[in-house]
Amino acid sequence: DKKVVLITGCSSGIGLSLAVRLASDPDKTFKVYATMRNLSKKERLLESMKGLHRDTLDILQMDVTDRQSILDARDRIVEKRINILVCNAGVGLMGPLEVQSLNSMRHILEVNLLGTIQTIQAFLPKMKAQSQGRILVTGSTGGLHGLPFNEVYCASKFAVEGACESLAILLQHFNIHVSLIECGPVNTDFLVNLQKTELGDTSLQQVDTQTLRLYEKYLQHCRSVFQNAAQDTEDIVKVFLDAIQSPSPAFRYFTSTTGAPVTQLKVTEPDESYISAMSKIIFSTEEQ
Ligand code: NAD
Repeated sequence: DKKVVLITGCSSGIGLSLAVRLASDPDKTFKVYATMRNLSKKERLLESMKGLHRDTLDILQMDVTDRQSILDARDRIVEKRINILVCNAGVGLMGPLEVQSLNSMRHILEVNLLGTIQTIQAFLPKMKAQSQGRILVTGSTGGLHGLPFNEVYCASKFAVEGACESLAILLQHFNIHVSLIECGPVNTDFLVNLQKTELGDTSLQQVDTQTLRLYEKYLQHCRSVFQNAAQDTEDIVKVFLDAIQSPSPAFRYFTSTTGAPVTQLKVTEPDESYISAMSKIIFSTEEQ
């Protein structure tokens, strides 16, 4: 029997790569339901599947902020079960906190936090009844440590950690494994899709010069990190595969070890060490 996988946020990035990899598995192990909010964006996924067998892939509409669309997608699963649920959809929000509108902050929390939780909710009863299943969530190092100018994004990803940890404890008793795949920077459309306050944005006129100066430095840091250290989606997909293929998957997987020492500071040195270390990493770049 094929493993039935449902993935959210498959129109680009990590979700798209994972869907393609699982659907084109040489052993045809998986039946993949690749879901996306906007079906008019399915061309890229179809293009990536060209020349590969297509009977292992179905594309469904699913907006993780819309409960009915989640239930409709669930009802269209022919096998009437899923073995692996991948909560991957997410968006970023970047800029000085004082310029963020309540609506944009709400949107980030709705997609990243409630979107993940709602999706899990919809599939949980069936998975429990099966006494079997995997829930994989695309996590972020921004869910483990704070990042300046990403307060609401980090809050949403921290919250996802809390929800997953809580579920993992309970779901052990149902033979359901929860795993977070913690990513650092990855080359995807994430930076294009995120809601970012651009330096020329009129909303920044109300922001003090010290904040603006630091924001500029942060953006510079961000660009250089993405240029020098970003992973490709294939690297992330390998980690997902490790988790999927492991008979007893770990709760957390780290896709790269570069961020780990900073994260550890939080636990081993609960004073200001982490705060000053991160500040140095981000803001100590030379003025250009
Ligand atoms: P991406 O922007 O290419 O992919 C995100 C996908 O989520 C998009 O296809 C988008 O359409 C979809 N999406 C947004 N709102 C949705 C909604 N309401 N319903 C359904 N789908 C929705 O970027 P990505 O890097 O592939 O992001 C995937 C996940 O990885 C996100 O959760 C993100 O937070 C996480 N992540 C990314 C990075 C990175 O640097 N790229 C780092 C850490 C974590």
